[in-house]
Amino acid sequence: MNNSKIWLSSPHMGGNEKNFVKEAFDTNWVAPLGPNVTGFEQDLENYLGQEHYVAALSSGTAAIHLGLVLLGVTAGDEVICQSFTFSASANPIVYLGASPIFIDSETETWNMCPIALEEAIIDRLKKGKKPKAIIPVHLYGMPFKVDEIRKIADKYEIPILEDSAEALGSTYKGKKCGTFGDIGVLSFNGNKIITTSGGGALVTLSKGVKEKTVYLATQARDNEPHYQHSEIGYNYRLSNICAGIGRGQMEILEHHVSLRRSMHQFYLDIFNTIDSVTVFDEPNSNYFSNHWLTCIIIDSKVLGKTIEQFRVALEMENIESRPLWMPMHLQPVFEKYPYYGSNVANLLFQNGLCLPSGSNLTESDKQRITDAVHRFFK
Ligand SMILES: *Cc1c(COP(=O)(O)O)cnc(C)c1O
Repeated sequence: MNNSKIWLSSPHMGGNEKNFVKEAFDTNWVAPLGPNVTGFEQDLENYLGQEHYVAALSSGTAAIHLGLVLLGVTAGDEVICQSFTFSASANPIVYLGASPIFIDSETETWNMCPIALEEAIIDRLKKGKKPKAIIPVHLYGMPFKVDEIRKIADKYEIPILEDSAEALGSTYKGKKCGTFGDIGVLSFNGNKIITTSGGGALVTLSKGVKEKTVYLATQARDNEPHYQHSEIGYNYRLSNICAGIGRGQMEILEHHVSLRRSMHQFYLDIFNTIDSVTVFDEPNSNYFSNHWLTCIIIDSKVLGKTIEQFRVALEMENIESRPLWMPMHLQPVFEKYPYYGSNVANLLFQNGLCLPSGSNLTESDKQRITDAVHRFFK
């Protein structure tokens, strides 16, 4: 019996990536700039809409870091951040000596709760400090409540840094994720919807902001023949080799989104008859998720078993699954920072699991998953 590992989300090449990488070698553009970097940025701009400017960077984390710098965040500032996320959403706040203020999720999209957000802003203002930015996340590819969050951000005049690391290919009311923030962030890490092996991007509506991003990402060098610097810079540009992979991946992005969405449908079908399990799904037709990862929530009381038992049962069959993100306000490294909410994210974390969702899973992989599910939930 084939018992090879079924991964949660593994890289899935389209085929043309190698040609772009080979071209980089053939033309000796083995550097953090070159035709693939420019080409990849253009591909992303075409995809997101021509009015957007994209700066390709070495990671999504680098994009969040530079995004915060561009929004003027400095030591002692406060930045509001979704608690239910990967640590990379919050780490750059601390790199800058600023403090994260964590916000709970709502139950429909699992993302930043607008009510808790407004409560937090009012309370921070009362304490004498206006937050410098808001970082909502489209977690697992599910768009956050864009209209509600935007309304509050505008009311209090606080810019949005949109963490769209997991949501390339998702849309809200037909508009692409990555384009809702004052600044948007994408990631092309190895496990994301498309990958450059490692990489990220910053999205902006301003040509000037893109130019400033590239300047900061290349050590903030002044326009002089010698090396002169008037500001602190970073080494955050994307390699021309990695960008070549990205150009190949952009050719198959839409197709891979449709494959991830059919994995989600596969899980809806399997769990349809199992009462103790809810498959996380779009709340209504305004939301179109790339379903980067399909997640389930179990009702342990109905089932009489825990989600951890299911995870271990899958592991025994060499099938990778993963608990949902542990909320940031519960993390040892962040627990000293303020948190606003009512423990929605805590409950999701305790009862949820991410299932293998890659665009490259085979029929035989799906059969093994189906069998494992039926054995556990019989
Ligand atoms: C992956 C991810 C990031 C960071 O992206 P990297 O490219 O890995 O640095 C940020 N936020 C979220 C929500 C992510 O999933």
